[in-house]
Amino acid sequence: MRAYNFCAGPAALPTAVLERAQAEMLDWHGKGLSIMEMSHRSDDYVAIAEKAEADLRKLMNIPENYKVLFLQGGASLQFSAIPLNLLGKNNKADYIDTGIWSEKALKEAKRYGDINVINAATHINGKLAISEQSEWNLSNDAAYVHYADNETIGGLQFAAVPQVNAPLVSDLSSSILSAPVDVSQFGLIYAGAQKNIGPAGLTLVIVREDLLDQAKPEIPTLLKYAEQAKNGSMLNTPSTYAWYLSGLVFEWLLEQGGVEAMHQINLAKAKLLYGYIDSSDFYANPIVEANRSIMNVPFTLANADLDALFLQEAQQQHLLNLAGHRSVGGMRASIYNAVPLQGVQALVEFMDTFAKRHG
Ligand SMILES: *Cc1c(COP(=O)(O)O)cnc(C)c1O
Repeated sequence: MRAYNFCAGPAALPTAVLERAQAEMLDWHGKGLSIMEMSHRSDDYVAIAEKAEADLRKLMNIPENYKVLFLQGGASLQFSAIPLNLLGKNNKADYIDTGIWSEKALKEAKRYGDINVINAATHINGKLAISEQSEWNLSNDAAYVHYADNETIGGLQFAAVPQVNAPLVSDLSSSILSAPVDVSQFGLIYAGAQKNIGPAGLTLVIVREDLLDQAKPEIPTLLKYAEQAKNGSMLNTPSTYAWYLSGLVFEWLLEQGGVEAMHQINLAKAKLLYGYIDSSDFYANPIVEANRSIMNVPFTLANADLDALFLQEAQQQHLLNLAGHRSVGGMRASIYNAVPLQGVQALVEFMDTFAKRHG
């Protein structure tokens, strides 16, 4: 049987997508070979790649003046690629710091330019929150403003898109396709695939065309968005299977009714889990309501000595990967698009039984 997988990444994939990939694996559409064995330059593969892009454009309503790139190296390589491509002549950028991932991004950017860090994580009545934008010390000559929409480890998410004058760069690794976004508000969006898109090995970059001509001359060719855009993300061999599988996920999302329909399900899942945690004396979540992630739900048990037993019994109930990030401990349930409402219902039932036995 397939368990419910709450892993933060690589994360759950829709069963229907895996079944289709399985059915197509040995002999793709009667061609006598698998996708993994196909030239990325073949007409068949180019059609697969183009269909994936067209479906993503449909799902996110991506305007014509944005390029969609299917790259490698994970979101973490974009921590370098973004400053190398976008810092431009004045070499300055603003980075909003709300946790571990935004800190990693700004640390890398500091190797290339003059980075103004805005510490936006704060506490309200003992709970973690993102401060009001009016309190941020944004500069007036930044080439761009970077933030991580959803801090996957902390479970801290922006309630709204920041309103800034410079091009906005968003790390959407753990929240892309979970809720509608207005792409035109951004200069660049990027996301590693292995959370809410597809398998590891693929990184999406959606970038506005007018930002493509300011890369540093010494930038590695493979990191240069303008070159990748000109070559259909095929400067070298792309991550062909991950690209194909992500395309199957896009088709699946369209069949589910698109991002708006997924958002409604995601809100119901988050409401159920947070609602239960809030109603319990045994479990707690450290985030203010407005900034709670709808994708990654960290929680603690009243007695941390029970953590190991909780994880062990959860696993026996086919509820997998609930341990919090190694840097913070506690628990974390990642409830991405591929985790159905029934999975969250099963989790809440298990949590309630566990609390009654041990609370
Ligand atoms: C997982 C994650 C990353 C790092 O992704 P890799 O693809 O492993 O490099 C960066 N940012 C956020 C918000 C993440 O959740």
